Amino acid sequence: MEILLKSMEKLIKMEKKLNNMINLSKPIIEDEEKKAVMAVLNSGMIAQGPKVKEFEENFAKYCGTKFAIAVNSGTAAIHCLLYGLQLKPNDEVITVPFTFAASTNPIMMLGAKPVFIDIREYDFNIDPHLLQSKINNKTKAIIAVDLYGQIYDPMVNELANKHNIPVIEDACQAIGAELNHKKAGSFGKGASFSFYATKNMTTAEGGMVTTNDPELAELCKRFRHHGQSEQTRYEYTDIGYNYRMTDIQAAIGIEQLKKIDKLNQLRIKNAQVLSNGLKDISQIKIPKINGKHVFHQYSILCEKRDELKDFLLKNEIGSGVYYPKPLHLHPHFKMEYNEGDFPISEKVSRSVLSLPVHPLLTQDDLIKIINTIKEFYK
Ligand SMILES: *Cc1c(COP(=O)(O)O)cnc(C)c1O
Repeated sequence: MEILLKSMEKLIKMEKKLNNMINLSKPIIEDEEKKAVMAVLNSGMIAQGPKVKEFEENFAKYCGTKFAIAVNSGTAAIHCLLYGLQLKPNDEVITVPFTFAASTNPIMMLGAKPVFIDIREYDFNIDPHLLQSKINNKTKAIIAVDLYGQIYDPMVNELANKHNIPVIEDACQAIGAELNHKKAGSFGKGASFSFYATKNMTTAEGGMVTTNDPELAELCKRFRHHGQSEQTRYEYTDIGYNYRMTDIQAAIGIEQLKKIDKLNQLRIKNAQVLSNGLKDISQIKIPKINGKHVFHQYSILCEKRDELKDFLLKNEIGSGVYYPKPLHLHPHFKMEYNEGDFPISEKVSRSVLSLPVHPLLTQDDLIKIINTIKEFYK
């Protein structure tokens, strides 16, 4: 850990020399990742092989699940899971409109129908109280998103269990998050993770499925590899894709997983500093925390959001809007929905702003962010 901190300080200094901008995110790739990649390249086995297997085993252990299946994106992970639930055209999947398109696209890839319900302003996640009214005999799954790195309200599971409907946890932003001593990835019947470059841990692109269900795990594996089971290659039992991860990516993932707790801890510490500095500004609502929030994004609700964003940029501080428009307001996801149907999602999308919180921020960076926001509202 000491060594990790030292090398991190070195990275921070290099970064400062290059650039005065405080970026919203920054992938952390160190010597261990580079060495691991070179070892794979030199081995001659670069596609899915022993490193993927090792990464899967380590990942399942980390999340406390029986199985982990590596794929080449978070989107692929969700697609595999919904296929594994044997979703059919015209089946319905309940989910939220306030998320990344990748939470919802795989529903449509299988010809099924997303049924949206609103989020709660409190945690930006699915509102369990709205669930009951949307459940009917076509409902085949619920996708609950751990948005910004905070686990959704498990009351969703209680309701779903009553109706025997599986919950898929979109944990793409939540590696390492915890609630009631359980880790993200272990809350639903299956969960998806993403290792895209800006996520809390990365393999450049990549994803993972976690589950305790052997049948679901097997179906995900087949879907990843053209409908073949590992036991009987070149016997095609069903349609499948090429969703495989490479050993090059897995080698990076193995090293990143070793550091994820430390990296998340730095995010949590940065979030505490930001919250302490911003909590008395009346035009801002700081994030509310339930359980271990790993702050993939540190998102505030604020007045004059777009002006604040411009002001921060003028002061060389990056920020982001996740997400500027809920899914139901995009033609592709509109279906029967109209503006006004999901008032909390719509309101939040107009006032949410994510501030830098990543592990490479210095104390000075955090103070500058706080003071710049104070100056804006003065
Ligand atoms: C990143 C992300 C995904 C998709 O992951 P990719 O690896 O980019 O395909 C899905 N859902 C959420 C909530 C995400 O943040």
